[in-house]
Amino acid sequence: MKTITFPNGDQVPAVGLGTWYMGDRPSERGREVEALRAGLDAGMTLIDTAEMYADGGAEEVVGEAIQGRRDGCYLVSKVLPSNASQSGTVEACEDSLRRLKTDYLDLYLLHWPGPYGLEETIAGFNRLVDDGKIKVWGVSNFDAPDMAAVWNCVDGNACQTNQVLYNLSRRGIEYDLIPALAARSVPVMAYSPLEQGRILANPAIAAVAARHDASPAQIAIAWLLARDNIIPIPKSSDLAHVAENRAAAEIDLTVEDIAELDDGFPAPTSKRPLAIL
Ligand code: NAP
Repeated sequence: MKTITFPNGDQVPAVGLGTWYMGDRPSERGREVEALRAGLDAGMTLIDTAEMYADGGAEEVVGEAIQGRRDGCYLVSKVLPSNASQSGTVEACEDSLRRLKTDYLDLYLLHWPGPYGLEETIAGFNRLVDDGKIKVWGVSNFDAPDMAAVWNCVDGNACQTNQVLYNLSRRGIEYDLIPALAARSVPVMAYSPLEQGRILANPAIAAVAARHDASPAQIAIAWLLARDNIIPIPKSSDLAHVAENRAAAEIDLTVEDIAELDDGFPAPTSKRPLAIL
C-alpha cells in the first residue's frame, strides 16, 4: 500500500478507516468491530474517530477493535471546539483515551475552528505531547486563512495535517488550500471521500469504473490516491466494502480516466468557501 509521510516523518497507509456513525446502534456494534479489524488486517492501519461521533460511542467501538493490536494502529481522534481550552483539551483527550482503552493517540485534531484562541488549544496539545498522551497534533475543517493563523502561532508549524471534506464533487480546496498545505508538505486527510455514497451513481465515475472492472467507490478513492499527499478515510461497516476500499489502492487511473473525471467534476477556477459536512 502506498504510504503518506507527515511532516514529523511518521508514515501512514494512504487509505485509512473512518468511523462516523459507528457506535450509534448497539445492534451494529459487532459488525462495526469486525469491519474495523478487517480493515486493519488489510493494512488500513490508520483509524479516524472523534469524541463527537455517537457521543464517544465510536471511540468505544474503536477501543474494542484495537484490543491486543494497539501497536499496529495509527489512532486519530478529535477534540470538540467547545472543549478546546487548554485544560479542556487535556481533559477531552483523557476521556477519549479511556473510551479507546489506550494510553496515547498518534494524532489529535481540533475538529473545527471554535471559540477558544488557537494558542490556547495548542498549549493543551503541547501539554498532551509532553505527558506522552498524544504523539502529534493537527486540525480539521480549517480553510486557507485559518491555516495561515495556525502557522502564525508559536509552535503552529508542528501542525501535521488538516482533515477536510475532499472528493470528486468537492474540489474547492484545490484552488488555494491544497497549494498552501503542499508548500509546507502537510498532507490532507480527505473526509467523506465517497461523499457518503452520493456520488457513486455519477455517469463519469461509472464509465471509468467499467473500464477498470472496478466499483464506483473504488474509482472515487483511486482518484484521491492519484493526487499528492492525500489520505482518504472511507467509512464502512461492511466487510465487502472494506475489501473493495483497500483494493482501490491498486488501481492506476490513466490520463484518459482523469480527463473524463475532470469533465464530470471540473476543478475550481476561483476561491470557494471551505465545504463542510
Ligand atoms: P464516506 O466515507 O464518504 O461514506 C461512507 C458511506 O459510504 C457509508 O454509508 C458506507 O456504507 C458507504 N460505503 C463505504 N464503502 C463503500 C463501498 N466500497 N461501496 C459502496 N458504499 C460504500 O463518508 P463519511 O463517513 O462521512 O467520511 C469518512 C470518515 O471521515 C468519517 O467516517 C469520519 O471518520 C471522517 N469525517 C470527518 C469529518 C470532520 O469534520 N473532520 C466529517 C465527516 C467525516 P457501509 O458502512 O455500508 O459500507
